[in-house]
Amino acid sequence: MVLCVVEHENGEVEDSSFEMLTLARDVASQLDTSMEAVVFGDGGDAIAADLGAYGVDTLHVVEHADLDGYAPAAWATSVSQVASHTDAETVIAPGTDRGHEVLAHAAAREGLSMAANCLEVTTGDAYEVTRQRWGGTLLEYARLSGETKLLTVAKNEISAEPGGDSAESAVESFEPSLSESDLSVRLDRVEESDEEGIPLGEARVVVGGGRGVGSAEDFDKLEALAEELDAAVGASRAAVNEGWRSHDSQIGQTGAKISPHLYIPCGISGAVQHMVGCKGTEHTLAINTDPEAAIVGHADYAVIADLHEVVPELTEVLQNRP
Ligand SMILES: Cc1cc2nc3c(=O)[nH]c(=O)nc-3n(C[C@H](O)[C@H](O)[C@H](O)COP(=O)(O)OP(=O)(O)OC[C@H]3O[C@@H](n4cnc5c(N)ncnc54)[C@H](O)[C@@H]3O)c2cc1C
Repeated sequence: MVLCVVEHENGEVEDSSFEMLTLARDVASQLDTSMEAVVFGDGGDAIAADLGAYGVDTLHVVEHADLDGYAPAAWATSVSQVASHTDAETVIAPGTDRGHEVLAHAAAREGLSMAANCLEVTTGDAYEVTRQRWGGTLLEYARLSGETKLLTVAKNEISAEPGGDSAESAVESFEPSLSESDLSVRLDRVEESDEEGIPLGEARVVVGGGRGVGSAEDFDKLEALAEELDAAVGASRAAVNEGWRSHDSQIGQTGAKISPHLYIPCGISGAVQHMVGCKGTEHTLAINTDPEAAIVGHADYAVIADLHEVVPELTEVLQNRP
C-alpha cells in the first residue's frame, strides 16, 4: 500500500498535495496496490471526497488531545505508526517545508531511506527516482532501497490530475501514541506578515532590489516604480541581510519562488541561489552597472547604468504616459 501524507488548510487540500497524489497514484499502479492517506488538523475528515477523486481508498485522520497544531516530531511519529498499522510499503508527502521535515524525521528515527523532491519513480526492489537538486537547477538519478521507501514530490512540477475509482475515501480516526519529547517542538502561533501589496508569488511584475540599491531608504525608488507597474517588490538575500527588507521579500533558494511575466532585478548580481527563485520568470529586464554581471547573461533586456538614475527616470516616464 502507498500511504500519502496530505496537507490541507481548514479542509481545503493544498495544490502541492494534489500533485503528490498524482505521482503517488502512478507508484501505486506500478506496484498494483492501493492508496491511503493520513491527515492532521481540524477539517481533515472534510477532504474525503477530494481524496477519493484522486484514488485514495481510506483516509486516516490523526486525532490526539495535544496535537491541535503542527509539531514535526509528533507528526513523524504519527505517520510512522499509521504506516506500520496499515503495512505501507511506500510513504509519500508533498515537497513542502512540512512534508520534507516530517518524512526526514520519520526516516531518521526508523533508519529508512528517503528521497526528496522526486519527479519520477520507477518501482522495483530498489526504486529508481529522478529528483531535483539545487532548487531544480540539477536533476539527479538515484536509487532508493529499504523495506519502506519514503519520498517527497517536487512542488509545481507535476500537473495534478484526478483519477481512480473511489467516489469518496472511507474515513478512519487514528490516535497515535506520543511521548513528551514528540511534542517538545510545536507551532505556538501564526503571525500574518505586515508586508503590504501584491504577494510576490502571485505578482505578474516583480521589481527586485539587491546590494546595489544601497540602503533601506533607496528601496523607495523601487516602490515608486512598482506602484506604476502594479508590481511586487522583492529583494536579494544580500539586501535582506543588510536589514533593508524583511525576509518575506527574499527571492531565491532560501526565499520566495516567483514566476512573473516580467522581473526587473536592480543592483542584483544574479548568484545561482538567487536565480533558483526566479527561474519561472517569462521576461527579465536587468538594471546593473556591471555588463559582466551574471544577471545580464540571464536577462532578455539589460540597462547597463546606475539604478539610482534609471529607476526614477523609468518611473517618471510611466507616470507621464498618456
Ligand atoms: C546556502 C545559500 C543560500 C542562499 N540563498 C539565497 C537566496 O535565497 N536569495 C539570494 O538572493 N541569495 C541567496 N544566497 C546569497 C547569494 O549567493 C548571493 O550572495 C546574493 O544573492 C548576492 O546578492 P546581490 O546580488 O544583491 O549582491 P551582490 O552579489 O553584491 O551584487 C550587487 C550587484 O549590484 C550591482 N550594482 C552595484 N551598484 C549598482 C548601482 N548603483 N546600479 C546598478 N547596479 C549596481 C553590482 O554590479 C552587482 O552586480 C544564498 C547563499 C547561500 C550560500
